[in-house]
Amino acid sequence: MQAGKNKIIIANWKMNPLTSKEAEKLFQHIIKSVSLVKRTAIVICPPSLYLAKLRKFSRKILLGAQDAFWGEGGPFTGEISGEMVYNIGGRYVILGHSERRAGGETNGEVNKKIKASLTAGLRPILCVGETMRDANHSYFNSVKNQLAECLDGVKKDLIHKVVIAYEPVWAISSTPNRHDATPADSLEMTIFIRKIISDKFGAEASKIRIVYGGSVSEKDAGDFFKNGGVDGLLAGKASLDAKKFIEIIKICEASSR
Ligand code: PEP
Repeated sequence: MQAGKNKIIIANWKMNPLTSKEAEKLFQHIIKSVSLVKRTAIVICPPSLYLAKLRKFSRKILLGAQDAFWGEGGPFTGEISGEMVYNIGGRYVILGHSERRAGGETNGEVNKKIKASLTAGLRPILCVGETMRDANHSYFNSVKNQLAECLDGVKKDLIHKVVIAYEPVWAISSTPNRHDATPADSLEMTIFIRKIISDKFGAEASKIRIVYGGSVSEKDAGDFFKNGGVDGLLAGKASLDAKKFIEIIKICEASSR
């Protein structure tokens, strides 16, 4: 990891919890344990309708959305813009998550959302990752395409705001017949991603944080920091369990010493 970059732990709560009361309880539980955290940026991405409530409880924990549309406003039924997320207190936004890509979201759409989110002042967390691995290693090409198309036209002076989340779909907890990715898998891909972004953005690319996501737990977080070449982790399922999530934050914090 480059000196000067804080590590980052991101929670993707997905479509959980079911009530705002439960969301507050989970958030408050996490807040209690983060007072001693100094070197780790903590970002929680709840369902967007909880953002307004949760923003009141902590300045230390940053909030993010799980998607934001590219339109500035107008006839886009059901959508929320980056500007709206920013105005309600969000500072990050997950874009191109595999669960959205599975619903038909394209690299071109993710690209429009990234540019609009940056204009709105948000930091995009761009998710990339192959659905499966093959003996010919063509999964490298699919990640390369995702990066090329999603980051097309993003200005060099804004690229440091982007976080890239390498999330192999085959390792995500909700994928049927999933299996674990190893820190070695992560290391190999983060080196590859760094090469692609430095070819595209030059020295500015060294400021981009690359995180790993896919069934991360408090049991393997340390190994990913030690051997996975990452600047942080993105947790889904484990982030809904306050104890596990806090443990992951502590492991991150200890790895920065
Ligand atoms: C995710 O889907 O972004 C994710 C990291 O989920 P999980 O940790 O549950 O695999």
